[in-house]
Amino acid sequence: MLASRWQAFSSSIFSKMSQMAAAHQAVNLAQGFPDFDGPAAIKEAAIQAIRGNFNQYAPSTGLGELRRQLAKRQAEQYGLTYDFAGEVTVFSGATEAIFCCIMGLCGPGDEVLTFEPFFDCYPAATAMAGAVLKTVPLRAPDWSFSVDELRAAVTSRTRVLLLNSPHNPSGKVFNRQELQSLADLAQEKNLIVITDEVYEELFFTPARHLPIARLNGMRDRTITISSTAKTFSLTGWKVGFTFADKKLTELIRIPHQYTVFCSATPLQAGMIAAYQLGQDYYLDFREQYTRRRDTLLGILRKHGFTCKAPEGTYFITADYSQIQDIPDMEFAAWLTEKVGVACLPISSFYLDAENARKNLRLVRFAFCKEVETLEEAGRRLAERLPRALAERT
Ligand code: GLN
Repeated sequence: MLASRWQAFSSSIFSKMSQMAAAHQAVNLAQGFPDFDGPAAIKEAAIQAIRGNFNQYAPSTGLGELRRQLAKRQAEQYGLTYDFAGEVTVFSGATEAIFCCIMGLCGPGDEVLTFEPFFDCYPAATAMAGAVLKTVPLRAPDWSFSVDELRAAVTSRTRVLLLNSPHNPSGKVFNRQELQSLADLAQEKNLIVITDEVYEELFFTPARHLPIARLNGMRDRTITISSTAKTFSLTGWKVGFTFADKKLTELIRIPHQYTVFCSATPLQAGMIAAYQLGQDYYLDFREQYTRRRDTLLGILRKHGFTCKAPEGTYFITADYSQIQDIPDMEFAAWLTEKVGVACLPISSFYLDAENARKNLRLVRFAFCKEVETLEEAGRRLAERLPRALAERT
């Protein structure tokens, strides 16, 4: 019998849709993972680390040299200075970091405030701490929000404002003005900001990523989370990290010690090589992703989806109401099965999925794929979508 605190949760939508995609040999644009690998130099450094006996426990907080490189990059990139010894921590992926942040900061009855739709681990991490997740909507199609609505949702129990920019699944990149309004609210209400910035390198001109920790007065109340997965196309490595003032860092290192203790040592050693890559890597990375985004946008629009170009992340949210008027889970399953292209129902990123299913006609497609993979999805839509639609009526 599953313990009661887990009973609201079942198999994640990522596992479900990837299994469904495999069962129907569908092009998997559901779960966000690249179908190509990250830089050879990083992989080679991890292989060398294994051969060179870097195979025992790392310090719980992470390999010192990796933390030094992370602190250096945060300073060079954003002008944010952190002491690598006391203010930078390595986790087993951003998901573990989020879990430890909430576990370390929140107790029973405390409240975590976030935007909806949200990444799927936020409710679970909050529930395990005995805390309560409160949400305020980002409204499609431009995913705007009202700061007054957010202010109204703050209570005396609200501890944390949990942000995510660039935002999964919407593709929104919060601009300076929006971040400033959130920073003002956090200071007015004395909230700690936990910010999930794993898509920090995935923004598209004219959008730019700005860490909220950069804004006046925010550094010391913000925990910034990022990871290896998206920036270096190594989602299976599960190396994430945080930057936070010493006092906050102390709180989040405790749960980390008693869950995973430390992240995989040779992969941390491999990641040191990531920070030897020059600016060209990032320029090329964004250029390639711009091409992938534009390819998939063209394909989806051609086949009847309505979609805005995302400002960031590697996801497109697409309105399918011109194709079919059925709930999103049904649509995603139908597209996977009959057309051979898998996507994700947006309702799975809402607390009240039932209600979202009724009101929204949106699915998410991932474009972290070779252009040929995206073109194969295009061919399938061209060949099979008309047939699948004809079969239904
Ligand atoms: N972050 C990825 C996504 O949104 C996958 C996450 C996962 O599989 N848990 O698709």
